Amino acid sequence: MMQAEMEKTTAERSTSGMRPIVRYNDIHKSFGDLEVLKGIDLEIQPGEKVAVIGPSGSGKTTLGRLLMTLEEPTSGTIEVDGELLWHREINGKLVRADEKHLHRMRKNIGMVFQHFNLFPHMTILRNVTEAPRKVLGMPKDDAERLAREMLDKVGLGDKLDGYPSQLSGGQKQRVAIARALVMSPKVMVFDEVTSALDPELVGEVLEVIKDIAKEGEMAMLLITHEMDFARDVADTVLFTDGGLIVEHGPPSQIFENPQSERLQAFLSRFR
Ligand code: ADP
Repeated sequence: MMQAEMEKTTAERSTSGMRPIVRYNDIHKSFGDLEVLKGIDLEIQPGEKVAVIGPSGSGKTTLGRLLMTLEEPTSGTIEVDGELLWHREINGKLVRADEKHLHRMRKNIGMVFQHFNLFPHMTILRNVTEAPRKVLGMPKDDAERLAREMLDKVGLGDKLDGYPSQLSGGQKQRVAIARALVMSPKVMVFDEVTSALDPELVGEVLEVIKDIAKEGEMAMLLITHEMDFARDVADTVLFTDGGLIVEHGPPSQIFENPQSERLQAFLSRFR
């Protein structure tokens, strides 16, 4: 991207016609009779960091899991970089995408979860090289070079030959972040990545995410209970309640000047 383009704000880019990297179109999701998402429209621009806050049960995780292809929408569509995620258009009709399409699309989407799911029998380095080698077919040397770079970035360059069991929860989560980064996704989804950590380990993980966010180009969807983090890292904050995006805007607006009573009540719990 040209320097001039990089210096534009996210809002300017969206009005200058740059294609969003993620777009939800009227997404509904039900589990049985329970409608968890009731019509979500959302755009994430290239490089944009979007934080999702809201009460427990409001649908935040489900919103992220749809993009991670772990839940299928009941209706509506999601596009990633201009291409339908869950569907394909055949003869003008939308049909559900097959596994091959989903597999290809997943390469664009990085995922970090509350539970890190590292492979316990593999070294730290191998945990990070596994996906680029198996999924992207990257040669071993290239995968290892890249993995070292990413492990350095998350502050674990000295732990390459160790095993997950030798790491703290915060370190394991940083390996999980390196493992997602090494795939160079177009968008990263962070789903409550500090919720399972002891409080003293939360900070180091949030700092690593903030550093990656500052680097710029990758879009992020960050589902979080950490309000200070959301305020620091996000370009845009979404407040979900009852399966809808009730309010969205820059952190200054959401945190300093919340419009709806529901958001005001939600934020008052953190004061
Ligand atoms: P949040 O992340 O805001 O806490 P979730 O998206 O996890 O909200 O959950 C929203 C609602 O959907 C909750 O009532 C939850 O119990 C329900 N839910 C989530 N996943 C499932 C599932 N696989 N089956 C049934 N209900 C689910």
